[in-house]
Amino acid sequence: MHVHTLIVGAGPGGLACAEVLAKNGKNVLVTERKKVVGPKVCAGGITWSGLISRVPANLAEKSFPVQYIKSPLQSISIKEKDPIIATVNRKRLGQQMAEQAKNAGASIRTATAVVQLDTGKALLHDKSSDKKEWISFDYLVGADGSSSLVRRSLGIPSTRLGIGINYQIPGDVDKMEWHLSNALFKNGYAWIFPHSRTLSIGAYADRASLGAAELKKNLLFWAKKQGYQLTQHKAHAEYINYDYQGWCFKKVYLVGDAAGLASGLTGEGIYPAIISGEETARSICDPHYTSTIMTQLVERHAKHSRMVTISGKSGLLNAFLAELMTLGLRSGMIKFNKMEMAI
Ligand SMILES: Cc1cc2nc3c(=O)[nH]c(=O)nc-3n(C[C@H](O)[C@H](O)[C@H](O)COP(=O)(O)OP(=O)(O)OC[C@H]3O[C@@H](n4cnc5c(N)ncnc54)[C@H](O)[C@@H]3O)c2cc1C
Repeated sequence: MHVHTLIVGAGPGGLACAEVLAKNGKNVLVTERKKVVGPKVCAGGITWSGLISRVPANLAEKSFPVQYIKSPLQSISIKEKDPIIATVNRKRLGQQMAEQAKNAGASIRTATAVVQLDTGKALLHDKSSDKKEWISFDYLVGADGSSSLVRRSLGIPSTRLGIGINYQIPGDVDKMEWHLSNALFKNGYAWIFPHSRTLSIGAYADRASLGAAELKKNLLFWAKKQGYQLTQHKAHAEYINYDYQGWCFKKVYLVGDAAGLASGLTGEGIYPAIISGEETARSICDPHYTSTIMTQLVERHAKHSRMVTISGKSGLLNAFLAELMTLGLRSGMIKFNKMEMAI
């Protein structure tokens, strides 16, 4: 079998890419190793400047014009006219995006992992039938997340990684909270993101500053102080790749986490995945296409990475910068959207 473009991974990056390619008449196949498209370890936060306005309103679980930020010395809230962030359920988002890609003409094979790559061809393993099949392609898109096989096949290492731990627990609260603490989360943070009948409680940290075991221990300790006993719930954790080293490699492209385009500062990755997926499709359709938005996205990403490097130099410096940033947000000198990946 031959396809014009093979997309590995049906996350938001792969599905956004598939929809645009299919709308342009390309024969596109998306392979997803999971049985079901959508579910992913994630807090499900999407920003107004980035995605809320583009995602169908029925997908937003809750939206928040007020953000609560706590540091060891300050407790502030920021209010805006429009919701600053909304939460989405990743399964519902994935199912909706898959439907749109299919309606545009893309094929999606679930329970099918790409297990080997060679020049111009890939070996697919259909887990349901346990059959293997080689497929050839003109273009290959690695949308296969933080441990991308396509990225490894290009010989690109992933060194700069964040760790995200999420607990999705029953509950109905209305405050979206961010907690900064150098002692517990180094230059990362803990969050409470309410969904419609559940809430996401979790923590993010740069792997270079804090290991997964210590992050989890500190998250449990902090959550207990907030009134949440998480030990009775199941934790889900994953790496978030922010080691960006390019997205276009001749006829092979990397999008989203596979490209290392998530923010190293906040772990935000849905917006960069969707934008890079769409822009990859446009570049494939038109070899002369110049992507302004990718240039801007990469610049924003580099700024976030520099902030991680600087704040990771010393605990004292990080604690000082966290207080300074909170003060800046409170006074309005720093706009909340500077912390976001959307331009
Ligand atoms: C705890 C946590 C909380 C987070 N919270 C947020 C948040 O609130 N907001 C936000 O914007 N981002 C958040 N993120 C980051 C966000 O989830 C990712 O950046 C985003 O999902 C990246 O999208 P993607 O399409 O690049 O990759 P993914 O969503 O990871 O999709 C990759 C897909 O590829 C599939 N795949 C992998 N290998 C293969 C293979 N060999 N063959 C076939 N299929 C394969 C996987 O099964 C997966 O479905 C969070 C991450 C974590 C870990």
